[in-house]
Amino acid sequence: MYNILIAKYGEIGVKGKNRYLFENKLIRNIRNMLKSIGEFHVYKEYGRIYIDVDDTNYLKAMDEVRKVFGVVGVCPAIKREKDYDVLKETALELLKEKVEKGNIETFKIASKRGDKSFKFTSQEMSIDIGGYVLSNLDNKSVKVDVRNPQITITCEYRNEHTLVYADSVAGYGGLPLGTNGKAMCLLSGGIDSPVSSWMVAKRGVDIEAVHFHSYPFTNERSQEKVRDLARILSKYCGPIKLHMVNTLDIQKAIAENCNEEETTILSRRFMMRIAQQIGESRYCTALVTGESIGQVASQTMQGLYCTNASVTMPVFRPLIAMDKIDIIKIAEDIGTYETSIIPEADCCSLFSPKKPVTKPRLERIEKSETKLDVEGLIKSAIENSVMETISFE
Ligand code: ATP
Ligand code: MG
Repeated sequence: MYNILIAKYGEIGVKGKNRYLFENKLIRNIRNMLKSIGEFHVYKEYGRIYIDVDDTNYLKAMDEVRKVFGVVGVCPAIKREKDYDVLKETALELLKEKVEKGNIETFKIASKRGDKSFKFTSQEMSIDIGGYVLSNLDNKSVKVDVRNPQITITCEYRNEHTLVYADSVAGYGGLPLGTNGKAMCLLSGGIDSPVSSWMVAKRGVDIEAVHFHSYPFTNERSQEKVRDLARILSKYCGPIKLHMVNTLDIQKAIAENCNEEETTILSRRFMMRIAQQIGESRYCTALVTGESIGQVASQTMQGLYCTNASVTMPVFRPLIAMDKIDIIKIAEDIGTYETSIIPEADCCSLFSPKKPVTKPRLERIEKSETKLDVEGLIKSAIENSVMETISFE
C-alpha cells in the first residue's frame, strides 16, 4: 500500500539562504544511510524530502531514515495520481486498514490543498472526504472526532499528485552531519563516551575519535571493543578516523614519579593534551568527553577544573548534567550499550589508585607534573599512534 516516505525535518527549515545547502546535505546523508539496504530514489520537491519505496522495503527504509541526523520524523504515505476520487478512495483504504489493525474508534481527516485552483478549500475537502469514508466504512462504531482523534488521516491534493498518510515515526532531530565543523572525541570503552560523541555528531558535527590503551597491559580485545563502538557510531556519523594511542610509558612514568592518589587526574591531563594535539593536526576545533559531574572521583568539580586546565581547546561535555540512568537509555537506543558493558580492562582501570584525590588542587597537580617530561612523553605517544578508518560495513 505505501509507496513513498516523507522525511520531515525541523530546524534546518529556518536556515534562510543556506537552507538548500542543508537540504542537499540531508538528502545525501539519507541516501548514504539507505545504502546498506539498497538503492533508493531520494529527492526534494517543494521543500520536502521524499523517498520512493514499496511494500517489501518501506519498514526497513523507515528505520534507516529515522536515524539520519536532521530528520525529525518519517511518514509512510500513499502517492497516487492527481484525481480527487482517487484521493477519497485512498483515504478510505488507509482508514479501513488502520481500523482492522488496531482498536481505532475515532478519526479525523486533515486536508492540504497544494493546487490552489482546486474547487474545494482544505476545510471543505476534510468535510467531504470525512463524510465519504464514514458512509463507506463497514465498521459503524467508528466516529469522527476533530478534537481528540485516535488517528488523523492527512489528505493532500497537490499540483502533481495526491498523498495520503497517517502516522509518523520520530527521528532524532538535530542537524545534518557535516554542516558544523569537526570535533575530536575521547572514546573509551565505557558507556558514556560513545553517547557523548553521538550527541555532538547529532548537531551536525563531523567527529574523529582518540582512544588510549596500555597494550600489552591491556589486551587486544579491549581495543577491538572500541573499534566495535566506533563502528556502531559510524552508522550514524559515516566512516570515523580512530586514533589509537599507547599511553603505557606515560602511566609508568606517573606511577614511578608521582603521588599514587594523583594518578588518575595526571593521566587524564595527558589524555586531554594528546587529544588536543592530534585534534589540531586534524582540523578539529573542540574536544568531546563523556564526563558527568560527580560520576567518579576524577569528575568532581575540582577534578574537572584540573582536567580542563590542561588544554586550551574548548571541551564539550554533553553529559555533564545527566544522570547515568538517562545516559544508559540513550546508549540502549543508539545501540552502543550492549558493547559498552562487555567487561574489558581500560588503561585507567589498570593504574587507578585505591584512594584517588577527589579535590585535587591545580598547583599541586602542576607541581607533580614538573617531575615528568610532559612534552617528551606526549611527543613520543603521538608519534607512535596509529590512525585507523572505521566504517559500518
Ligand atoms: P566512559 O563510560 O565513557 O568510559 P567513565 O565514566 O568511565 O566514562 P572516565 O574513565 O573518568 O569516565 O573517563 C571520562 C571521559 O574521559 C570518558 O567519557 C572519555 O571521554 C575519556 N576517556 C577515559 N578513558 C579513556 C580512554 N582510555 N581513551 C579515550 N578516552 C578516554
Ligand atoms: Mg571509562
